[in-house]
Amino acid sequence: MNVLVVNCGSSSIKYSLLAMADGGEPQVLASGLIERIGEEASGLRHEAGGNQIRREVQAPDHEAAFGLMVRALTEGDGAAIAGPDAIDAVGHRVVHGGERFAESTRLDDAVIAAIEACANLAPLHNPPNLTGIRAAMHLMPRVPHVAVFDTSFHQTLEPHAFLYALPYELYTEHRIRRYGFHGTSHRYVAGEAARMLGRPPAEVNLITLHLGNGCSAAAVRGGKSVDTSLGMTPLEGLVMGTRSGDIDPAIIFHLVRSLGMGVDEVDDLLNRRSGLLGVSGVSNDMREVLRAAGEGNERAELALAIFCHRLKKYIGAYTAELGQVDALVFTGGIGENAAYIRRRTCEGLAPLGYVLDDVRNEADTRAARDVAADASPTRILVIPTDEEAMIARDTAHIAALPQDG
Ligand code: ADP
Repeated sequence: MNVLVVNCGSSSIKYSLLAMADGGEPQVLASGLIERIGEEASGLRHEAGGNQIRREVQAPDHEAAFGLMVRALTEGDGAAIAGPDAIDAVGHRVVHGGERFAESTRLDDAVIAAIEACANLAPLHNPPNLTGIRAAMHLMPRVPHVAVFDTSFHQTLEPHAFLYALPYELYTEHRIRRYGFHGTSHRYVAGEAARMLGRPPAEVNLITLHLGNGCSAAAVRGGKSVDTSLGMTPLEGLVMGTRSGDIDPAIIFHLVRSLGMGVDEVDDLLNRRSGLLGVSGVSNDMREVLRAAGEGNERAELALAIFCHRLKKYIGAYTAELGQVDALVFTGGIGENAAYIRRRTCEGLAPLGYVLDDVRNEADTRAARDVAADASPTRILVIPTDEEAMIARDTAHIAALPQDG
């Protein structure tokens, strides 16, 4: 079965086509990106079988972009399949599934309406996700379409972990609670970690750290998420590229009352001008911040110090929550590649059971690996995340189920 995995933003569509062998690893046949949708000149980047294509295209809307994607997949140098009929199912990444979706779900009108109803919780993400879903369903009406939610893995949190200590009606009437995000990534690496440990997921406790442009930690007990650092929105918790993570909420009143900022300005400050970028003044990109700190830039060094300090706090908190931890898992662009961040984060954590092996940690490989010292009571794993594979697996599984009614 060939599954097309799509991730729709307001002006871009990222896609991968995966061949799902029975019981085997998904194989990527092609992948690409269409950007600047709706602008005069849009861009297509496409890769298949070692051929890379980059060209300017006309994509006035998402449906036109999907048409271009299908053509890139089926015609010319980047063709990966003979025709559109070789696409058997489409998996859509959807950011917010609210409390309604604890699992990936086949899309129909009722599901689309329910995703729409969550749109006020993710106003930047759900509307473009829906635009993509509608365009793809219109263009490919005969194949099953499946929604895979960033929030659903964390729907196993219990009330004491997902509720904020606010007036309870804010939850019952307005659904203000922790939802958590990056669920597809946490779920994927949790499954891989159990496989590496040679035990069923239900018997394994993990702390998973997804460190990319956005960053989040999750406490996973017996394969189920029991806590996570992102909250009602993807702003809480760890330090991120441009997002602050945890702050005293009263800072916002101070910014408004004493510094005269407007709500949108504060929103912009916390979401787009804080984090690694805000502290370092250098970049939101960890590679740039590491380079600047290496050259003696003090604010870049401070950004790294805050980033690792915050990570350490969450590891400590989640270790306390889980009681017993089998493995700490690093993933995402930073988690997979930045040996320095892993070392600095794990420094001093031996009393909690985390002892890194410096040589293993520095090894130059992209493979999933154990970087803990032999004597470490808890394993420390580096696992490349693969959200596309997870979405494709869910999609293939759901597409193969008999449809009710
Ligand atoms: P996204 O969250 O957008 O999927 P990624 O998971 O690709 O992003 O993570 C991007 C982050 O990973 C950036 O901060 C980037 O600097 C960092 N990163 C990628 N490669 C390295 C590396 N070799 N060393 C340190 N940081 C890296």
